[in-house]
Amino acid sequence: MSLCKDCKAKINWILGESGNSIPVDTEEICIMPDNEGHVVIVKLDGQVVKGNLTMKGSPGSVIGYTNHYDTCRASRR
Ligand SMILES: [Zn+2]
Repeated sequence: MSLCKDCKAKINWILGESGNSIPVDTEEICIMPDNEGHVVIVKLDGQVVKGNLTMKGSPGSVIGYTNHYDTCRASRR
């Protein structure tokens, strides 16, 4: 675990499919994959999945983390 150098939030790094490191929030979220969805997560294997929030454990659901660039307070200025 490390800290965002901009907003000091706790973040994790996930190795993306293209070999780049993606900073993500530490909170685990669960979504139902949907190309029309408005939530984007990064899975631990680096795959990016779009969908809608759902209950953890729902059939077909996927667990991942929010890209920190989307939530970073420092980038909202
Ligand atoms: Zn940040």
